[in-house]
Amino acid sequence: MVNEESKHKSGFVSILGEPNVGKSTLMNALVGERMSIITRKPQTTRHRIVGILSGDDFQIVFSDTPGYVIDPAYKMHESMNRFVHQSYDDADVFLYVLDLTKPFQEDHPILEKLRGSQVPVVVVLNKKDLVEESTTQQLRDHLKTILPSATVCMISALHQTNTQELLEAIHQLLPLGPVYYPKDQLTDRPERFFVSEIIREQILELYHDEIPYSVEVAVESFKEDESRKGPLIRIRALIFVMRKSQKAIIIGKGGSAIKELGIRSRKEIETFLDSHTFLELHVKVKENWRDDERLLKHFGYKK
Ligand code: GDP
Ligand code: MG
Repeated sequence: MVNEESKHKSGFVSILGEPNVGKSTLMNALVGERMSIITRKPQTTRHRIVGILSGDDFQIVFSDTPGYVIDPAYKMHESMNRFVHQSYDDADVFLYVLDLTKPFQEDHPILEKLRGSQVPVVVVLNKKDLVEESTTQQLRDHLKTILPSATVCMISALHQTNTQELLEAIHQLLPLGPVYYPKDQLTDRPERFFVSEIIREQILELYHDEIPYSVEVAVESFKEDESRKGPLIRIRALIFVMRKSQKAIIIGKGGSAIKELGIRSRKEIETFLDSHTFLELHVKVKENWRDDERLLKHFGYKK
């Protein structure tokens, strides 16, 4: 008799790579949900985000790490780096994502780390839709010499080309293991976390220059309620900025900017939660939130 339990494969897969190479896009393509926010601006992913992909005989727990900040300027950056290191510690497979449109960085610290590690590596050459395949041969040959045991997959995360082959490669490398999460669960993050990420994503779209990098969003309350039109979720979110002048920009003339932010965010949140939503936004000045241990803890940068 075959023992089904003993054939189950599972593991933690860390998605590593420079900002903007397509890590979040890839995780969304693989997990099939809007798990982490994607924009054209670098450093949008600040937290470790877990996406879970389950099949009958396997479970893959992905973490999409923030980009590695080489010169940490703030405590926040140090915390971001710590998340990257954490994912080195508990990974069963590494996905090292490279952007085919960028020059290959031979001396990158992540590469150094991977070369010294026992954990199997899949090198994901992403954005194949933007380059001629023939121009990639040299890089692929080169990778064979520097990471001889790695599997190399060339994909387009955006167009979901070759992502099934990539999944197949990951599945091959997974160890036998238990079911870590219920099979229908897609993430280990609570809904309110995604709500704050959606608001932050809209801030990135709407405001420019230093604003997006100076804010943090915290969902203060999240309540399910009934209204005349049916179920309603009432959300109160705080937007922290570092200076008074930034508060004025967020709010805009006569409140026009924050009104637009509220409308856009609510629309996205309603799609995500599949429920009518009432969204209340408030702006607070908190000069040094990036260096404030207690606030960082509150925002989830520290345990
Ligand atoms: P991350 O910082 O590594 O998480 O990168 P993102 O997933 O946020 O992607 C950065 C940018 O690259 C976004 O504008 C994506 O739409 C784009 N992108 C990601 N994958 C691909 C791809 O396969 N092809 C193309 N053309 N663009 C991509
Ligand atoms: Mg990202």
